[in-house]
Amino acid sequence: VGNSADFDSEVDSICPFCGVGCQVSLKVKDGKIKYVEGINGPANEGRLCVKGRFGFDYIHHPHRLTKPLIRRKDAPPKGLNVDPGNWQTHFREATWDEALDFAAGGMKKIGGAGVAGFGSAKCTNEEAYLFQKIIRQGFGHNNVDHCTRLCHASSVAALMENVGSGAVTATFNQIENADVAIVIGANPTENHPVAATFFKQFAKRGGKLIVMDPRGQALKRHASHMLQFRPGTDVSMLNAIMHVIVEEKLYDQQYIEAFTENWEIEKAHLKTFTPEKMSKICGIDAAVLRDVARTFAGANAAMIFWGMGISQHIHGTDNSRCLISLALMTGQIGRPGAGLHPLRGQNNVQGASDAGLIPMFLPDYQPVSDDGVRSAFTEVWQSSDFSDKKGLTVTEIMDAVHDGDIRSLYVLGENPAMSDPDVEHARAALAKLDHLVVQDIFLTETANFADVILPASAFAEKSGTVTNTNRQVQMGRPAVPPPGDAKEDWWIEVELAKRLGLGWTYTDPSEVFAEMKLNMSSLNNITWNRLESEGAVTYPSTSPTDPGQAIVFADGFPRQDGRARFTPASIIAPDDAPDEDYPMILTTGRQLEHWHTGSMTRRSYVLDGLEPEANCSLHPSTLRKLGVEPGAYIRLTTKRGSIELMAREDRAVSPDMVFLPFAYVEAAANILTNPAVDPYGKIPEFKFSAVKVEAATAP
Ligand code: SF4
Repeated sequence: VGNSADFDSEVDSICPFCGVGCQVSLKVKDGKIKYVEGINGPANEGRLCVKGRFGFDYIHHPHRLTKPLIRRKDAPPKGLNVDPGNWQTHFREATWDEALDFAAGGMKKIGGAGVAGFGSAKCTNEEAYLFQKIIRQGFGHNNVDHCTRLCHASSVAALMENVGSGAVTATFNQIENADVAIVIGANPTENHPVAATFFKQFAKRGGKLIVMDPRGQALKRHASHMLQFRPGTDVSMLNAIMHVIVEEKLYDQQYIEAFTENWEIEKAHLKTFTPEKMSKICGIDAAVLRDVARTFAGANAAMIFWGMGISQHIHGTDNSRCLISLALMTGQIGRPGAGLHPLRGQNNVQGASDAGLIPMFLPDYQPVSDDGVRSAFTEVWQSSDFSDKKGLTVTEIMDAVHDGDIRSLYVLGENPAMSDPDVEHARAALAKLDHLVVQDIFLTETANFADVILPASAFAEKSGTVTNTNRQVQMGRPAVPPPGDAKEDWWIEVELAKRLGLGWTYTDPSEVFAEMKLNMSSLNNITWNRLESEGAVTYPSTSPTDPGQAIVFADGFPRQDGRARFTPASIIAPDDAPDEDYPMILTTGRQLEHWHTGSMTRRSYVLDGLEPEANCSLHPSTLRKLGVEPGAYIRLTTKRGSIELMAREDRAVSPDMVFLPFAYVEAAANILTNPAVDPYGKIPEFKFSAVKVEAATAP
C-alpha cells in the first residue's frame, strides 16, 4: 500500500478476473497502473486476492495488440503457429478503416446463417448486448453464444426450469446469516478467493460448513463435514441425502405446500436411493450421508454454493436439479442466510448472459421463440424480425463449421482454440473458416487463425457496467488509455455494425445501457447515473433509492403459478468411463494464480512467476506406482490426444484421479477433454474423462 505521493491519479473500477466482482482502486503513475487496492465494494468489503492485487500488469505487456492486423496473402497456412513477438510473417498492419471494411465485408459476403459469433464474459454488459444485437439484427438468427456454455449453462438450465430465474437467489455474503452451508463441486479458495474468506469466517464463528468434492481442498480445514465423493456420482449422493430427509420427515411441509409443485413425484422418486445403496456408488459412508441430511434439514438458515464440479458433466443439469430440490424441500430459499448460489466464473458471465449473449434467449432470458418478445426488440432496434429458432451453442457452432454450414466467425474476447473440449477439433474448425474476425487485447491462440484482428481494450481502459455473481451491477471506469491504436470494444462493434448497414449511432456506452433498460425489467430503477455515483446496485432494485435485493423469492417464484418445481434426477454414468486402456479419471479446472486460458495471467509478472510451468496433480501413491518423483514429466493420454507435463504430488487428489489446470498452451488440457455435452445446458463434460498416465522424459 502506497500513499498519494506514489501516484498521479486513482480510479475506482472492478477486478477483471472472477465473478466475485471485487471493487478496486487503480493507482496510476506516468500513464501506467502502479498498484491496486481493494475498496469497499458490496461483494469484497475491501478484500482482494492475489489476482486482483498483483495480476493487472498484463495491461502494459509488450504483446498488447496496438494496430489492426490483416492476414498476409502469402502467410503460412493457418494454424497455431504465430510467434507473438514475430507475427509479421502472418499479418500486416492496417488502418482501422481498412480492417473494419475487411471484417464487415467478409461477414456480409458470406451472410445469413453462414456467420456466427462468440462474445465474451470479459466484456461489459453494453458490449455483450451490442454483440448479440449485431448477430441477430445483422444476420437474422441466434447463432451467438459465449463461455457460459462451458461454465454454468447447466446450472442456468436447471434454475430456469425449476425456480424461473437463472441468477442466484441470495448473495454469497448472506452466509453471515446462515448456520449451515454446503459448498459442492467448487474450490472457492482458488477460484473465488474473496468469497472463500467469507466462508471461512462463517466456519470460524461456528457455522457448519459441509464441503463436498471429489478433490480434497483448502476449505476442508474449515469444514464440519468433508465428503470426498467419487467423481461423477453427485446425483447418487444428493439423492441419498434427500432420501433421508424424506424418510425421517425432516422436510418443511408448510413451505412445500405453499411454494412448490411436483413434490409427490420427487418423494416417490427418492424412495430407492437409500444411503446404504448409494454409499456403494458415491463412496461416502451411509452414516455420514444421514448426518449431513439431518444437519442441513435442521438448519435455521442454510445456503448451497456450487461450482463447475456440478455443472461440467453430461448430467450437470441433473446435479443442479438435486441441489434445487434439496433447498426447496427444506424451505431454504428466500430468507436471510438461505438460498441457492452457483458461484459464477468470469467477472461478467452473469451480465453477459443477462444481456442475451446466448442462443436461446434475448436479454433478460426472454425466449427467442416468443413472437411478442422478438417484436419488442425489433421495435427498439427499428429492424425486421429475426429467427424464432434457438441458435447454435459454442460447440455446435464448431461442428457447423466442420459441416461447412458456418464459414464466417466473429470472436470477441473468447479463446476457443484453448477453451473448447477436444480442442484439436475446434482448432481444425478455426483453420477451415473462410473468414475469422478476432477482437482481443492479445494475439491469442484463436487469433493465430484470424483473417483480421481488431485490437481492443482491457478492463482498466474502458467504461461500462459488469454484473457479478451476486447480481450486483457495477461500474467499471477507465484509468489509462488503450495502447497505440487499440479501441474500446463497444466502439469497434459500432463501427462494424455501421459497415454492416445496421445504422447504429451510439456515441457512448451509457446510450447502450439506456437502450438495454427498455426491454430488461431486471434493470428497473438502475440508471447509469446511479451506477456512476453509487458504484453498484443489486438487481432487482425496487425504487430509485433501493440498493437492491440481496435475497429474492421470499413470496414465491417467477414461474406461471408462482411455484418452484421439483424435477427428479436419475443416475447417468459419465460418457467416457475408465477401462483397461484408460484406467484413471481426468478432471480439469483452474489454479489460484491463473485465469482460464492464461492469456492475461501468463502475461502477469507476479502470477506467472508463481506458477510458470504446465503441471498436473496426482496422489503420491500414483506417482510411486509410475515410478516417478514429484516434478518429473508424465504423459497423459485420452481417446482425443496426448500431452506431456510436470507432475506434482498432491494428497488432495484421490489415487485414481489426475487434476489438470487448463491455462497452459504448451500442454493444453483440452486436447484431452471429452466433447460430450449435457442435453439441457449443452455444457461439455470437462470434469470427467478416462485417461492413461505414463512416465515421460522431460524435454
Ligand atoms: Fe478479483 Fe475474484 Fe480475486 Fe476478487 S476474488 S480480487 S474478483 S479474482
